Amino acid sequence: MITRRGFVLAAAAGAAAAKNYSGIRFRQLSHGKSSRRYLWIHGDETTAGSVLAAHMKRFNGKAWLVQSPTRVIKTLTLQFDPNRMFNDDGLDKNLRRLNPQASQAERAQVIRTVAKDREKFLAEITPPGDGLLIVLHNNARGYSVNDEIPISAAVSLKAPGEPNDFFLCTRRSDFDKIQSSPYNAVLQDEPRGDEDGSLSRTMGRRYVRYINLETAIGRADKQREMIEWLESNLP
Ligand SMILES: [Zn+2]
Repeated sequence: MITRRGFVLAAAAGAAAAKNYSGIRFRQLSHGKSSRRYLWIHGDETTAGSVLAAHMKRFNGKAWLVQSPTRVIKTLTLQFDPNRMFNDDGLDKNLRRLNPQASQAERAQVIRTVAKDREKFLAEITPPGDGLLIVLHNNARGYSVNDEIPISAAVSLKAPGEPNDFFLCTRRSDFDKIQSSPYNAVLQDEPRGDEDGSLSRTMGRRYVRYINLETAIGRADKQREMIEWLESNLP
């Protein structure tokens, strides 16, 4: 028998489903009704994964959490970074870098496999209407807001002593609001440079409202604080 209390708790926890796109596995969490969408894509960025899983118990929307213990995904015999899989050119460059021994035929087979479900996956994580997609990352190897400044249309450095913690947005109205926050942010509303296969550039080119939330790995309190700032201050 399901007690009233048990039923309420089950409803509050939302629903979970297993998803698979070209062999890349995700756990999808749904909670309530909202146009918010969330993604965790690098399996080794464990702080971001934990923060997002906990977030989805309290906030409404749909989230996709990658089911991989490693940053790279192995499809067929080759490895690639899933944040370089969003177009064929970016994926091919990444396959060459991570699998220098692979033949062109092997790369072409992986590219075809990934391309098969790519648009389906992008359609699912694209928010309805003018909703917002928030993607959580952690950095451990020195990557920081300083790397993004040269290719950004606008920059707000409110915490220059914490360059590893920052937002990257594709919509100027979001960037303008974030400028009133105590956090670092860059705006990339007109993607520049090579098509690298990353999700931020793909969504930028499609005019989707998109925000990367980056913090140093291990800084769960900071990442939680920053995502909650977005929930309280952005439409
Ligand atoms: Zn990442």
